[in-house]
Amino acid sequence: MTTEEMLHIDRQHLWHPYTSTIDPLPVYPVRRAEGVRIYLEDGRELVDGMSSWWAAIHGYNHPRLNAAAELQLSRMSHVMFGGLTHSPAVELAELLLGILPAGLDTIFYADSGSVAVEVAMKMALQYHQAHGCQGRTRFATIRSGYHGDTWHAMSVCDPTTGMHGIFSGALPIQHFLPQPTSRFHGEWMADDMEPLRHLLDTRGDELAALILEPIVQGAGGMYFYHPQYLVEARRLCSQAGVLLIFDEIATGFGRTGKLFAQAHADVVPDIMCIGKALTGGYMTLSATITHRAIADTICSGEAGCFMHGPTFMGNPLACAVAAESIRLLLESPWQERVNRIESQLREELAPAVTLSGVANVRVLGAIGVIEMKRPVPMATLQRRFVEAGIWIRPFGRLCYLQPPFIIESADLSRLTGGLLRILAEECP
Ligand SMILES: *Cc1c(COP(=O)(O)O)cnc(C)c1O
Repeated sequence: MTTEEMLHIDRQHLWHPYTSTIDPLPVYPVRRAEGVRIYLEDGRELVDGMSSWWAAIHGYNHPRLNAAAELQLSRMSHVMFGGLTHSPAVELAELLLGILPAGLDTIFYADSGSVAVEVAMKMALQYHQAHGCQGRTRFATIRSGYHGDTWHAMSVCDPTTGMHGIFSGALPIQHFLPQPTSRFHGEWMADDMEPLRHLLDTRGDELAALILEPIVQGAGGMYFYHPQYLVEARRLCSQAGVLLIFDEIATGFGRTGKLFAQAHADVVPDIMCIGKALTGGYMTLSATITHRAIADTICSGEAGCFMHGPTFMGNPLACAVAAESIRLLLESPWQERVNRIESQLREELAPAVTLSGVANVRVLGAIGVIEMKRPVPMATLQRRFVEAGIWIRPFGRLCYLQPPFIIESADLSRLTGGLLRILAEECP
């Protein structure tokens, strides 16, 4: 098949994420990827600034992850998890227990990040039911959050930038608190807790859980807030009998400079979701983790078990790759790498503040964000980036870099240099 034929069939028959079928943005055919490079069918090569949406932390086509997949493939790709178990699932559990916050020891494997969030929300509901609190059916969250695209995950995404308008009337109504104004690198302003305190005082007994992306809000606005918010939220939720869910699907596995973002505040949630980088970006797998006591409470309820069980639960192939990805991460100098990326991003993105189109520049761990004053011209920027040999996909007013941890300094400079130059030319 020629590239033209491939693009034609793609154009006629395939949806792409958040892209119109009538007037789609161009897509760039990829032949292969290796390390931090994506090789296009037309021979061009791009330095990857996205880690394929937080996931490919070790870069692409890694020999150790490939070997883990091949070995597992030669044994079995999948067997059902109902009534059966296998060493990839158990080994991955052991590795996770070694790095998860203390006390989070009961793991539910799921298919994708969104499903892990659905699972977390269902766990919270079943937990309160088992306690005889039938009225605790609502969820609270902060604005500018993103928790996935499935039904209840969508209900706790930001009501403006999320899909509430389109599905309003059909979506469950949740409680939205203002985004904390205290920034990660700024001063703590205690007033940030007032809205949550007020909500818990007035409607606390309707709430099943508060769900947050700890420290870094991802697709809802790429915003970094103060760790003290998590400390206070933990205390207030415990007092009110409301569970605390941390969605670490984007932040997990080192991206923010800690293995998990909760470590910036040393706060342990009741339920935690992980995904994205869990398999090093190889395939889809997620997990929802809780404390044994919460799991046992859920199972002491009317149903007698947790009411969820995906067909591909605990997929051996995905678990084997995830286990190897965690070993690889822990054996690598990941912290040094993330720190080095952080200082280089800080230094090389700083000049962007002088561009008139730029509203804010911020960096945390291996995440660099340039927030523009107006939405960026996606198609033009995408084309310019590809011409410059870099892969960056902005959304809305946000251009951001989150490269694989293995990126070398010269390649990172290519990303920052290209991004700044093209923004200066295209978004004056
Ligand atoms: C990406 C993401 C999700 C959804 O994960 P999918 O695998 O795309 O379903 C949920 N929460 C956060 C914080 C995410 O970044």
